Amino acid sequence: MQTELVLEQALTALGGTVERGVRVTGVAHDDTRVTVTTQGPDGTRHIGADWLIAADGVRSSVREHLGIAFAGEPVPATYLLAEGSVDGPFARDELHYFLGTTGTLVVAPLPDSVVRVGGGVPDGTEPDLAAVQRLLDERGPGGLRMVEAASITTFTSAERVAATLRRGRCFLAGDAAHTHAAVGGQGLNLALEDVRNLVWKLAGVIGGRFAPAILDSYDIERRCAAEDTVRVTRLLARLALLGPVAARVRNTVWRLASATGVLRRRYAPVLAGSRSRYTEGVVLPAPARRASLPPPGTRTPAWVPAPATDPRRFRLVTLGAPTGALVDGARTVARRFPALVGHEHLTRRGSGFLLLRPDGYVAATGTGPDGLAGVETVLRDLALTARSPVVAAG
Ligand SMILES: Cc1cc2nc3c(=O)[nH]c(=O)nc-3n(C[C@H](O)[C@H](O)[C@H](O)COP(=O)(O)OP(=O)(O)OC[C@H]3O[C@@H](n4cnc5c(N)ncnc54)[C@H](O)[C@@H]3O)c2cc1C
Repeated sequence: MQTELVLEQALTALGGTVERGVRVTGVAHDDTRVTVTTQGPDGTRHIGADWLIAADGVRSSVREHLGIAFAGEPVPATYLLAEGSVDGPFARDELHYFLGTTGTLVVAPLPDSVVRVGGGVPDGTEPDLAAVQRLLDERGPGGLRMVEAASITTFTSAERVAATLRRGRCFLAGDAAHTHAAVGGQGLNLALEDVRNLVWKLAGVIGGRFAPAILDSYDIERRCAAEDTVRVTRLLARLALLGPVAARVRNTVWRLASATGVLRRRYAPVLAGSRSRYTEGVVLPAPARRASLPPPGTRTPAWVPAPATDPRRFRLVTLGAPTGALVDGARTVARRFPALVGHEHLTRRGSGFLLLRPDGYVAATGTGPDGLAGVETVLRDLALTARSPVVAAG
């Protein structure tokens, strides 16, 4: 609810509105236009648009109208999820994962003293307080009791990724594009990252700065991220389903990984959704040397300050001495493509550069002025006037 509120407030601030009670019942599209048919309180409407982003959930009717396959497998597990008041001693500002020999248990404090309790349960389990209490007693630390439940449900999930995330002028995002085992709570991260990946590209095309070909990279980059998430959650779900003997081994390894900090270093970033890396799309291969620069396709490192200028443009950040051939070369690139990129300099030890995308991912890196030729190639390919980049005066 909190997330929906934040998103809706942001949409309203930008001049958009959410129309509730209106259902998409048809989609038609050609090379120039998309027409969506809707049913709502005002009857049937036909809405014309240049582009369509379908974020209509795992049963996406838009995906069906577009004839995009959604192949995959059901996850062989039933999950119980309850939200309510939990009595007992546990830190209420941390997410807790417990590993028992009969399965896993998640205890997640939410706002307003609500606690979410979840775990895998045998098929056919009744979603009631007794089942929640069994989970807490069998797998928890002891002494926890759900005293009042606002909701208790059981559900199953599936592992599916749409055959393509783009058909012409229509895009699939979020659960409409992919679904996976609930373990690790990755669905929302993945959905928001889809949109983050798509909107700067689409805004650039609509604004006349990027050639439409950039939109092909949405499917390439995000389908790969979705397939990675399906792989990781499949592994985690299978680990959660191990029998008692294997579960003891798993729990010992897990405890060791926790004690040595491996879990925090390797697993926490996976849960936070920050491990995804684009190896194809709007990224260049890493230069042969210079391990201290972040690999292209990963997120901007924390030591780079937030953008001070137009967030719709790429940032060409030079590192090292504030003057010299590298800085001059970067300024020249920025002057050639003023609508696409701005130059910034960070005085740091070691020289090099980063080309950062508007969504905060690294598009390219390099160590010297020679590497800037690759940056020019990326920008020339993206620019709407591909054969004649804009050359600014001065
Ligand atoms: C029980 C449960 C617990 C979960 N817990 C977590 C968690 O802890 N962390 C996490 O990251 N993820 C979690 N998820 C997954 C997460 O909820 C989804 O990944 C996320 O909501 C996907 O967002 P979405 O916008 O793509 O789809 P949805 O949230 O499903 O939104 C789709 C919207 O489209 C609307 N819609 C559908 N069809 C039409 C139509 N024809 N016309 C108009 N509108 C339509 C629906 O009404 C809905 O509002 C959980 C999912 C479930 C089921």
